[in-house]
Amino acid sequence: MNILIVNAGSSSLKYQLLDMEKEKVIAKGNCEKIGLADPFISYKHSGKEEIFKGAKNHEEAIKKVLDILVDKKNGVIKSFDEINAIGHRVVMGGWIFKESTLIDDKVIEEIDKLSEMAPLHNPAHVLCMRACKKVMPSVPQVAVFDTSFHTTMPEKAYMYAIKYEDYEKYHIRRYGAHGTSHRYVVEELAKVLKKDVKDVNAITCHIGNGSSITAIKNGKSVDTSMGLTPLQGVVMGTRSGDIDPTVVQFLCSHKKQTVDEVLTYLNKECGLLGVSGVSSDHRETTKASDGGNKRAKLALDLLAYSVKKYIGSYLAVLNGTDAIVFTGGIGENSKEAREQILENMETLGIVLDKEKNNNFKRGQVELISAKNSKIKVYVIPTDEELMMARDTKEIVKKLKKSK
Ligand code: ADP
Repeated sequence: MNILIVNAGSSSLKYQLLDMEKEKVIAKGNCEKIGLADPFISYKHSGKEEIFKGAKNHEEAIKKVLDILVDKKNGVIKSFDEINAIGHRVVMGGWIFKESTLIDDKVIEEIDKLSEMAPLHNPAHVLCMRACKKVMPSVPQVAVFDTSFHTTMPEKAYMYAIKYEDYEKYHIRRYGAHGTSHRYVVEELAKVLKKDVKDVNAITCHIGNGSSITAIKNGKSVDTSMGLTPLQGVVMGTRSGDIDPTVVQFLCSHKKQTVDEVLTYLNKECGLLGVSGVSSDHRETTKASDGGNKRAKLALDLLAYSVKKYIGSYLAVLNGTDAIVFTGGIGENSKEAREQILENMETLGIVLDKEKNNNFKRGQVELISAKNSKIKVYVIPTDEELMMARDTKEIVKKLKKSK
C-alpha cells in the first residue's frame, strides 16, 4: 500500500510517498514559498535531489507534486492508481477530533471552522484536502491531528484559570501540539522497554525549532507544555515560551504596537534569536557561545533551564517516570543541550552517561543514561510522517473491511 503524506503550512507543502508494506520512503520533498516570488519544489528519490518550478497556490502545488511523482522520466510511480491513500497533517483539531479521522465534507468543514485557532495552518490544510479530492476523488484521505494525542489530558491540566463561562464560550484552553511526534516516540519507547505502550510512563521532550514537553501516563498524554497555541511552554528558536501576559501590555504601550504585532514579535523574534541576537538555530547559537558570545550563552541557558523545569514538574505530575526521551532536531542532535538540561538531577534519579551521550550515533534509538540512573534516558529519532502513514493505513484497512 502506497500512502502520500501531505504536510501543508501557510506557504509550504511537504510531501512524502511511503511504501507501507516495507515502511519505506519512496520519494519526498517540499513545495516552498507557495504564492511568493521564486517558489520552488524539491524532489528527493533514489538518492537524488531535483528542483522544479514552484506553485502559485496550494491546489497548484498538489497538482505539481502529483505530476512529478508520475513523470515519465523521473517519476517513482506509473499513475495515480498507485497512490492508495492520502494522509494530511492538521495542526489544530481542537476539542473536536480525538483521533485520526477519515475525511469527508463535514470533516473538512469542521477543520475549517477551527481556523480561528490556527489561522496560518488550518486554511492551508483545507485547501489541500479539497485539491486532492478534485484530482483523486476516489482515493481515501485521512486527517491526522497534532492535537489529538493531547485530548486525553485531564481538565486540571488543560484548563486555564479564567472565567469558566469564557472557557465554555470561546473554547480557550490548552490544546498542545507535536502530538504525532510524542505518540510516535512513546510507541517506539514501549518497543525498546518491551512493554505494552499502555504500561509506559514517560516524559517526552520534542526539542526543535518549535519545542514541547509532554507527560505521558500509561501511554496517554496527561500534560503538555504548549497551550492554546504553540507560543506557550519552553524557550524555542524564535518563540519566547511562557511569559507573564502583562509583558504584552508593556510592549504595546512602549513600542506603540498592536497586540497582533506584539504576538508576532513573541512568535518570530524572541527565543534563541531574540536573546542571542545571533540566530534562531541552535547550532549557530552554540557556535557563538563557544566563541565567547555571552548573549548566545544566556539564550542556551534559558532554553535548557526551561526544559529542565518542565521535566521537574512532570516528574511531580507522574510521581516519577520510566524514561525521559529526547527527540526533534535539537533533542536528537545536540549532546550539549541534553547534558545541560539533565545536569544536577541525580537526586531525582537521573544520571546521564556522558560518554554515551557524546558518542551517540545520529539517527538511531540509544540509551544515554548511566547504569545507576533510576530513570532511563533515551534519544529516539521522531518520524511524524511514518506515524501519520501508519494511522492512514489503519483507517483505510478498516474502511475496506467494512465495504
Ligand atoms: P522544526 O521544529 O522546524 O521541525 P527541527 O526539529 O528540524 O525543527 O529542529 C531544528 C533545530 O535543530 C535547529 O535549531 C538546529 O540548529 C537544530 N539541529 C539540527 N541538527 C543539529 C546538530 N547536529 N546539532 C545541534 N543542533 C542541531
